[in-house]
Amino acid sequence: MKSGGCTAPDLFDKFQPLIDQREALLSTGLTDPFNLVMERVESPTVAICNGKRTILLGTYNYMGQTFDPQVLAAGHKALDEYGAGTTGSRVLNGTYQGHRECEEALKRFYGMDHAMVFSTGYQANLGIISTIAGKDDYVILDIDSHASIYDGCALGNAQIVAFRHNDVEALEKRLKRLPADAGKLVVLEGVYSMLGDTAPLKEMVAISKAAGAMVLVDEAHSMGFIGPNGRGVAEDQGVLDDVDFVIGTFSKSVGTVGGFCVSNHPKFEILRLVCRPYVFTASLPPSVVATAATSIDLLRGAADKRAHLWANSRRLHGGLKELGFTLGTETPQSAIIAVIMPDLERGAAMWEALLHEGLYVNLARPPATPAGMTLLRCSLCALHSEEQVGEILGMFEAAGNRVGVI
Ligand code: PMP
Repeated sequence: MKSGGCTAPDLFDKFQPLIDQREALLSTGLTDPFNLVMERVESPTVAICNGKRTILLGTYNYMGQTFDPQVLAAGHKALDEYGAGTTGSRVLNGTYQGHRECEEALKRFYGMDHAMVFSTGYQANLGIISTIAGKDDYVILDIDSHASIYDGCALGNAQIVAFRHNDVEALEKRLKRLPADAGKLVVLEGVYSMLGDTAPLKEMVAISKAAGAMVLVDEAHSMGFIGPNGRGVAEDQGVLDDVDFVIGTFSKSVGTVGGFCVSNHPKFEILRLVCRPYVFTASLPPSVVATAATSIDLLRGAADKRAHLWANSRRLHGGLKELGFTLGTETPQSAIIAVIMPDLERGAAMWEALLHEGLYVNLARPPATPAGMTLLRCSLCALHSEEQVGEILGMFEAAGNRVGVI
């Protein structure tokens, strides 16, 4: 809406192309893929959507911890004993016993000296990247990095240098071009969440260290699942000791909400005073940190769940490939299997056809996806049974035939 006589544009004009595209898609009668309501959640793998029992294959509940009885009991107890929220920042009245215990659980899980809990994983990236890489420093990042990494760069004052996705040589070239005496932070992810591919961390960490850079790895999609102890891709590839900062989230394998950074850096604790997305926001509710701490301790001993999740990932990847779908990776590399759709229209039609079959997956589209791709992202859970994976494959076959994408 414009005010009278003024030539300034409506600030919403820039969204018009997106508004038009969305209206065109919904005018075909399609269910809005970005507005689905979970009317009831029965378990980590089943919910009621539009009144229908729906298998969940588009959550980040990789280890199925959201309904674990011990996790729930810890949350109930903390809610009763400490109340619904802290109503304050970690540096004022918002550090409760539970926040400390949660940080201790993280230190035990990673075998690291320091742990700092944030209110979300998004804020952990925002805070750590913007605070440690300052003016005259460089952040060198994979071009397919998560939005929170880019936003961390935007909040800070460092120079940003992007390199081609998972390209070891490109990283090396970029590092060589930077001034030898400049501060450098290389930011990588263990698993890239759109295609579900893992990073060649072994090579990348070695190259970064040789160039004198510090290394931050976001293990959001690998924590709990990848690596012998579930510490992530850096552990799996034997380079965790050379990583300066691991960023993670409680909103995936841990099964609640929150973010963190763990590190062995001797001066790490100073960040609690200078990291704005840590200081200038309220801390997590006591029930949330209690569920997180309990869940993290349980993840340490979850080898059987990890093995079952790998079996699920291999079976779904192999089955979808056999059906004729094009997948984001040649081999299963994580709990995410991305099915590449020819375009947004057929991707949305396929998403809806799957929902009618009783299956929820994520529809992902640019700008979240690389190379303008439309994806149906499937995220497996350690609690999906063999029968459910079989059902899922049957639903993909039926929907794929109906929409004409296989
Ligand atoms: N990093 C990565 C790689 C992510 O995919 C996400 C969320 N999808 C985050 C960070 C942010 O996590 P949170 O949900 O805890 O904000």
